[in-house]
Amino acid sequence: MKKNIFLTFIWLFTLLIISCNQTNPKSSQTNAEQNVSSDKIKTVMTKQMQDDLTPDAVLEDLLNGNQRYISGKMENRDLSAQVAATTDGQFPKAVILACIDSRVPVEYIFDQGIGDVFVVRVAGNIEDPELLGSMEYGLGVAGSKLLMVLGHENCGAVKAAIEKVDVGSENITALLSHLEQSIQEIEGTRNSKDKAYLDKVIKNNVNQTVEDIRNRSSIISGLEKEGKVKVVGAYYSLTDGKVTLLQDDTQEVHEH
Ligand SMILES: [Zn+2]
Repeated sequence: MKKNIFLTFIWLFTLLIISCNQTNPKSSQTNAEQNVSSDKIKTVMTKQMQDDLTPDAVLEDLLNGNQRYISGKMENRDLSAQVAATTDGQFPKAVILACIDSRVPVEYIFDQGIGDVFVVRVAGNIEDPELLGSMEYGLGVAGSKLLMVLGHENCGAVKAAIEKVDVGSENITALLSHLEQSIQEIEGTRNSKDKAYLDKVIKNNVNQTVEDIRNRSSIISGLEKEGKVKVVGAYYSLTDGKVTLLQDDTQEVHEH
């Protein structure tokens, strides 16, 4: 009996060692990959790079990244090298508050690498104290220069809030209640299948979240007034992958 327990322990220990080795990105790199990796981006954001960036430059960087994403000309990154280079610290350029939607892969759509951006994700890209704390950390403590609130086309959370979906979960109901004000501000019949109406609510919710962040975080609004941080709202199109900036005070979109 004792022998069996001892053998089981040895087996589990061996399994643990094997699985640890398998999760090490460096060990999975083949010789062929190592040979071509010299062309890839291995560098990461440093304190100096972060200090030298202005909020406007960060915004331009993200929008340029989105252009590369749309045109299929994304940077070639050595992610293993970036993992190694960021082990001891991070100096991200931006904080992006986005929805959890699987069709909005934030680093991809802005063509960013390891250590480049903080991504805060919650269904319907709303804010609450915990999320505000996360954003305040990124901007006020870790030195990021831009806060982007990113809504997206055909958002399931916004649709569920419009439909007042009730699945018997007080947690989901509490989450969707954050969207109610943005819905009520938009004129028209409450209909999630009306694409134009849905888009107006989605964009209004982004603007509302931006306003709420300014009102509820003196750290973020203070940094913004000092010009150290820029806060913007944006909309991601599931149709063509394009990110468009939203105006602060209306539901209209800036077209570039
Ligand atoms: Zn969504």
